[in-house]
Amino acid sequence: MNDCIFCKIINGEIPSYKVYEDDDVFAFMDISPVSAGHVLVIPKKHAQDIFEIDDESHGKVQKVVKKLAHKIVDKLGAKGVNIINNNKAEAGQTVFHYHVHIIPRYDENDKLELKFNPDSAVVIEEVFEKIK
Ligand code: 5GP
Ligand code: ZN
Repeated sequence: MNDCIFCKIINGEIPSYKVYEDDDVFAFMDISPVSAGHVLVIPKKHAQDIFEIDDESHGKVQKVVKKLAHKIVDKLGAKGVNIINNNKAEAGQTVFHYHVHIIPRYDENDKLELKFNPDSAVVIEEVFEKIK
């Protein structure tokens, strides 16, 4: 896509620290890392988000996510990783080319704030009936 910054990164029009590349997938260092080794994995074929990406492309991205998660833990000594994919602005997506964040975790001083606050107003049975 013409005005997509991640397509420009794939094409080399915008420089990046490339971590991995094959025919279908590209991975590079996030420009604003949340922790040391924060990487983004993207499909070369432009798709906006999880709702648009085709199954084949999605599967190829996930395979690389797994491979790089192992590598990051092995090479950087991370104790764990968060794998995050934001879809749509409401979910925090700011770049509209599908991407998966791999965020290495080291200790309690990590800058990633990820907290699940349970919503007691949610009636599980109501939503369960719709999505099962
Ligand atoms: P989102 O909020 O859409 O899930 O994440 C977009 C990510 O892309 C952010 O973490 C941001 O730092 C990263 N990003 C935005 N522009 C660039 C860029 O030009 N180069 C690189 N390497 N990362 C970028
Ligand atoms: Zn794109």
